[in-house]
Amino acid sequence: MAEIAEAGTEITDETETEASGTRSAKELKHAQVWKHFERKTIEKEDGETEAFILCHICEEHFSTNNSTTTFERHLKSKYLNIYKDLGQDETSSSKPWTTEVQNKKHKLFINWIITD
Ligand SMILES: [Zn+2]
Repeated sequence: MAEIAEAGTEITDETETEASGTRSAKELKHAQVWKHFERKTIEKEDGETEAFILCHICEEHFSTNNSTTTFERHLKSKYLNIYKDLGQDETSSSKPWTTEVQNKKHKLFINWIITD
């Protein structure tokens, strides 16, 4: 009986950690989706205003009935590189060593050409 109780406790802990982690990552992603979209209103000829969502990248108009998930999918299908950057904080997305190594290689290559 003690074993079962222990296993149950473990599962509960794991689920809590995973759920809170997933939720914050998703929230961050959704917040970043809105960097590329904007809610706009236009005044029509009859004086009524119409709201729409504008994609900053392709300037496509979307209905305001769409959810963030729709715009997330739009980014994923049309701009995969931008979509991949969503939900990542600055520290995890930057790769300082990659640029450094590439610059070094580039310089060496130039030096080699000049020397030769
Ligand atoms: Zn777009």
